[in-house]
Amino acid sequence: MSSVPLAGPEPLIDVHAHFHWAGTGRADWQHINARRLEAGDRIGIRVHVASILGTWGHRSPTYFASRADVRDGNDAMFALAAADATRVRAYVHVNPNDEAHAHAEVRRGIAAGAIGIKVAAARRCDDPLLDPIAVLAAEHHLPILHHLWQHRTRHWPGQDISDAADYARLAARHPHATFIAAHIGGGGDWQHSLAAVRDVPNICFDLSGSGVDRGMLERCVEMLGAERLLWAADLTLDTGLAKLRALETMRLAPADMAAIRWRNAVRIFPRGAFGALTHGAAA
Ligand SMILES: [Zn+2]
Repeated sequence: MSSVPLAGPEPLIDVHAHFHWAGTGRADWQHINARRLEAGDRIGIRVHVASILGTWGHRSPTYFASRADVRDGNDAMFALAAADATRVRAYVHVNPNDEAHAHAEVRRGIAAGAIGIKVAAARRCDDPLLDPIAVLAAEHHLPILHHLWQHRTRHWPGQDISDAADYARLAARHPHATFIAAHIGGGGDWQHSLAAVRDVPNICFDLSGSGVDRGMLERCVEMLGAERLLWAADLTLDTGLAKLRALETMRLAPADMAAIRWRNAVRIFPRGAFGALTHGAAA
C-alpha cells in the first residue's frame, strides 16, 4: 500500500469527529475507534477533533443526556485525547438545558485540555440558556459546534432542533465567539442554511454529512468564502474523502484549499491546539 495519504500530503484536520467508549453499550467500541484512526491515517487526517455525546443513547438520550452521562462521556473523550495526544483532541459536550452543569462541564473541559464545546441539540439554539455557554466560549477562544436542520416544520424525535436562522441569532448576540455549524451535507436544505448565515461572519460551516449534492460545495465557497469553511467527516469518512476530491475538481487557489483543510481550524481553535500545525507552519 502506498504511504502517500489518499487525500494528499498536505495537512488535514477533521473538526467534527466522534468516538465510542465502554458505556455506549457496544461490544465493538474499541474496534470502531481504532478503525477511525486507521482510516484517518490512510486518508491523511492529522488531527481528529472529537466529541462523545454521553452514552450515545444507551442510558439517556443522545441529545438530552443525563448529568452522569454527560460527565462520563466527556471523561472518556478526555482520556482518548490524552492517550493519543498527536491525533486526537476533545470537545467538551454539554446539555444546555442543565445550565449549572453545562457551565461546570465547560470549565472542567478547559482544565482537561478540551479545545471546543459541542452543544447538544437539546434546546433551540437561540434560547437564552445558551448565552452563558457562548460567553465562556468567547472568553476562552473555544469554538462552539452545534448541529442544525432545515426545514424545521416537523419535530425530530429526541431533539429540540435548530435551524441556521436560530443559530444566526445566537451568533449575532456573541460576536466574539466563533460558531461552527455542523455538517452542511447533513442538515436538510443547505441553500436555506447558507443564506441564513451568510451575513453572520462568526459562523463557519463544516463540510461533513453524507449529502454530496451537485453544486453544494460551489455554493458554500461562493456564499461564505473559503475562510468560513472547515473540512470534516463526522460519521462518514468516505464522504469526507469524496468532498476533498470534489473540492480538487473546483480548482480552488492552493491557499483556499489549505484554509478549508486545516488553516481555518488553526485560526478558530485556541492557540497551540494543533501542536506543530500553526499559523505559520505546516510541519
Ligand atoms: Zn456529529
